[in-house]
Amino acid sequence: MIKELNQKIQSRELSCLDLNKEYLAIIKEKNESLRAFLEVYEKEVLAQAEAVDKKVNRKKKIGLLEGIPYGLKDNVCLQGKRTSAGSRMLNNYQAVYDATVVKKLKEAGAIVMGKTNMDEFAMGSSTESSVFGPTKNPWDESRVPGGSSGGSAAAVAAEMVPWALGSDTGGSIRQPAGFCGVVGFKPTYGRVSRYGLIAMASSYDQIGPLAKTVEDVALIYQVIKGKDVKDNTTIEKSEADLEDNFSLKGKKIGIVKEFFDSEGLDKKVKTTVEKRIEFAKEQGVEIIEVKLDYFKHSLAVYYIMMTAEISSNLARMDGIRFGFNESLEKDAKAKDILDVYNFSREMALGPESKRRVILGTYVLSAGYYDAYYKKAQKIREIIKQEVKKVFEQVDVLISPTSPKPAFKLGEKISDPLQLYLEDIYTVGANVAMIPGISIPAGIVSEDGKDLPVGLQLLGRWWEDEKLLSFAKALEL
Ligand code: GLN
Repeated sequence: MIKELNQKIQSRELSCLDLNKEYLAIIKEKNESLRAFLEVYEKEVLAQAEAVDKKVNRKKKIGLLEGIPYGLKDNVCLQGKRTSAGSRMLNNYQAVYDATVVKKLKEAGAIVMGKTNMDEFAMGSSTESSVFGPTKNPWDESRVPGGSSGGSAAAVAAEMVPWALGSDTGGSIRQPAGFCGVVGFKPTYGRVSRYGLIAMASSYDQIGPLAKTVEDVALIYQVIKGKDVKDNTTIEKSEADLEDNFSLKGKKIGIVKEFFDSEGLDKKVKTTVEKRIEFAKEQGVEIIEVKLDYFKHSLAVYYIMMTAEISSNLARMDGIRFGFNESLEKDAKAKDILDVYNFSREMALGPESKRRVILGTYVLSAGYYDAYYKKAQKIREIIKQEVKKVFEQVDVLISPTSPKPAFKLGEKISDPLQLYLEDIYTVGANVAMIPGISIPAGIVSEDGKDLPVGLQLLGRWWEDEKLLSFAKALEL
């Protein structure tokens, strides 16, 4: 899709200005009810589009992403623009610099259409914890788009933009992609710089693209990846390019039996994914059942380590260094600095952020650190080793992206544990730091409405492009 748009602009079949105007018109029509975008930069978008047209008119060659608009999740810094992370705490925060991904995309000429809605500080699976109100699923507006990158997924699904960026700490790119019927890719931890991403859990967070096709996410990935001196967890590691003539014949795909036998897995989701596995077999793939004894503990490991990392990352949201300080201006009751912290955090953090900060502070506290945080770290290492071994037998692992299709707004928000179970298939990739992608697997019907089902593929550490080749071959 991006390639075609690029060709049309380059050949002047379509002006970049008209293209962007079309997307803006769709946003105007749909955003009020979907609430996928929090802000749209119409004036800047049109000015940039005009500049691209001028360049084309001068017979200059434009880059693949040049003039193509995208949605930016609101936890990624864009200089001079509000970057709220869906929180009241950062409601007035204007980013003072560009995130590395934004910088790279600016250099490539991509146009930021606006900021997309998200769960507060990326905590959630439904985009309902955003202080700006929930995003709705374009397939059925009584349902959630998934989360936390729900705004990005809904924006792509509703054709408000051809692609968007999200962040994935435990599944936040893949799960909403699955719920909205688009492609969502979380690269290997360390492939894409996190500089300028408002941290949730630093050893799990990774930025990645959502788009309509695997080819598009691969294109975007190639632009945003790479070593960044500002993020010392990134490294330069070469990899084979996306293979054009990639054949599934003779390849090995692993399935974890427990994933498919799980009681929580919706029957229709199961059959939809199994159909795609049958398709893979017809293409000559060998399906191998693999055993992963520790992988199933990923969710437990994640919910301990992630809360610990959140409690320390959100410590800076204290009303002074960052955040809401209306208490200082308006509330004469603040007697001392502790009062300022307390008032700010009490007023400006939502219930999920508070829950996780408290849990995280507990698991990091003296006496419990060894029992929880350290133990979880050890299990994470074991899981990584186990996953490495499994990838000696198979090229990729396949599973549903989520146990069920998109659920109703309000259905799970009061039951955090239910919501946490949404991550059962996705979180392992973050624990093991491997790449993962969700692609559309088919459509099921719920209450007379069509809903998409996502299929997840997990790949070897640092073999992102190979994973993308698999995903492309298995695309509907
Ligand atoms: N749903 C998960 C959580 O609430 C994952 C969030 C994410 O990936 N940012 O922690």
